[in-house]
Amino acid sequence: AAGAGLVIWLSRRRLSLRGELATAIRRRELYLHYQPIIELDTGICVGAEALVRWQRPDGTQVRPDLFIPLAEETGMIAAVTDLVIENVVRDMRDLLVGDRSAHIAINLAAEDISSGRALQMISKHMAGSGILPQQIWMEATERGFLDLDRARTMLAQARRAGHSVAIDDFGVGFSSLQYLEQLPLDALKIDKSFIDAIGTESATSPVTPHIIDMAKELGLWVVAEGVETEAQLAYLHSRHVEFGQGWLFSRPLPRDEFVAFHHKRQQRYGAAREDMQNPRSVPIEREAV
Ligand code: C2E
Ligand code: MG
Ligand code: MG
Repeated sequence: AAGAGLVIWLSRRRLSLRGELATAIRRRELYLHYQPIIELDTGICVGAEALVRWQRPDGTQVRPDLFIPLAEETGMIAAVTDLVIENVVRDMRDLLVGDRSAHIAINLAAEDISSGRALQMISKHMAGSGILPQQIWMEATERGFLDLDRARTMLAQARRAGHSVAIDDFGVGFSSLQYLEQLPLDALKIDKSFIDAIGTESATSPVTPHIIDMAKELGLWVVAEGVETEAQLAYLHSRHVEFGQGWLFSRPLPRDEFVAFHHKRQQRYGAAREDMQNPRSVPIEREAV
């Protein structure tokens, strides 16, 4: 009986969270933090990943790994994605117009990919903003690729429109390899678990260099997720990984703090970038494979 009580309590709690999320979306209470993405060669900040945040009226935060799946299960994810896109355009217009090599990456859910709706929303909100399509990247995990034909169509469309597309959390699923071969992609984000494994004797550790090599053979940009230590950075650099993201550089930041961070990095490391023959932050067209 105690068990049943708990189940009822949990399902009530979930129901109320669902109601709260619907209200938060209606009141546009979701907002974004931006986690800097660093070009490892130069140290400059080439852009950021937009990460959604939800603060309830009582001040407590709900983590996205909790409410994103809830939104997906309850048909609210399209509304969340729309809000994210709206916020990116509003928050980042000035920065993106001022620095054409900068980009913002948006996370797409499975439904955003199968419906293709996110792409329409992006072009609708970008219209007249001055932001270029190549300044908006899309991230998708393999859950978005279950309907392979649709995924292929949508990603090809996105790339034709000028966006870059990244496979997110690479390596954690079962079918990642198949997707690499069959989908039109620009970048691969190595999951944090493989970055954590660098320099340890853990089971995932021997796999990391192979993921990097494979991405390079396929002509994909590599972004390392969850870089926390100098040792990891040194390793990634030695392996010629192009980009990194993680607490070593910065946590996800509120808009103004991200703008300041980007500016500071530009001033400190911008010269190194101008010296480079071939700036690589916006791979509009990557080398043929
Ligand atoms: P993700 O897309 O793989 O995002 C990276 C997550 O790793 C973020 O968690 C980020 O804060 C965290 N992270 C980055 N660097 C480090 C590090 O050095 N150490 C540690 N421990 N963590 C680090 P966050 O913001 O809690 O987001 C979790 C997940 O929720 C995201 O994983 C993504 O799957 C989902 N998500 C977040 N925002 C959105 C969104 O706007 N739309 C959709 N569909 N999903 C989103
Ligand atoms: Mg992501
Ligand atoms: Mg990820």
